[in-house]
Amino acid sequence: MRIDVLTLFPGMFEGFLEEGIVRVARSKGLLDVVTHDFRAFATDKHRSVDDRPYGGGPGMVLMCGPVFACDESVVAAGRAAGQEGEPKRIMLTPQGRRLDQDLLEELHQEPWLSVLCGHYEGFDERIREGLEPLEVSIGDYVLSGGEVPAMVLIDGITRLLPGALGHPDGARSDSFACGPLLEGPQYTRPRVFRDMEVPAVLLSGDHGAVARWRHEQAELRTQARRPDLLGRADENEHTSQ
Ligand code: SAM
Repeated sequence: MRIDVLTLFPGMFEGFLEEGIVRVARSKGLLDVVTHDFRAFATDKHRSVDDRPYGGGPGMVLMCGPVFACDESVVAAGRAAGQEGEPKRIMLTPQGRRLDQDLLEELHQEPWLSVLCGHYEGFDERIREGLEPLEVSIGDYVLSGGEVPAMVLIDGITRLLPGALGHPDGARSDSFACGPLLEGPQYTRPRVFRDMEVPAVLLSGDHGAVARWRHEQAELRTQARRPDLLGRADENEHTSQ
């Protein structure tokens, strides 16, 4: 999978790309992430990428020219590297579709993504009209730029790529992976820590009993922390009948 990231701050991705699962996926050839600096596509002597909003108001708006030129360069570079057609374009914005596990599942099947990171007051509206990206939000709050949301997106996608995680089923037992349940409690050695014991069933060697216990715990935990998820599952069952 190839992911191009269009940003004003490519340096923010350096540590992210060199650590953890993203580094592993890149080193295995499962993922190629290429960053591009909008500023390299500015045409004036000040290398401007933003300007004041028409109609007045606070802040600055990302200009069309450098963003469209950067997008065209991304398409050309991707094709030169063997990609076909166009990337699926994603614009990070608090106004977009809320990122969740279902969306990550959809996106990890794409061969090529291009991710637009905004800054300042956001993008000139014609960037939306011209590039027709899928607009994605990581939650109902406003951050100063799209770089952290892009890292959230890339991390979530990467762990779904076959071969990225050490254990092939690793992502399948996580919260949200199989239906609406949160994952239940997990334990590791030692068996007793400061008088707190690991539940006996996990030491029993009875795989069926362990699986049942884990499912019950997942239900209890979801009921206690996110009962809305169980409600949504009931709604889906009713509407699909
Ligand atoms: N003026 C914009 C609005 O009200 O919708 C917010 C702009 S925000 C300060 C600057 C940039 O940060 C956005 O263009 C976007 O790329 C990114 N951003 C901020 N919050 C985000 C969120 N919750 N999800 C995704 N991207 C976000």
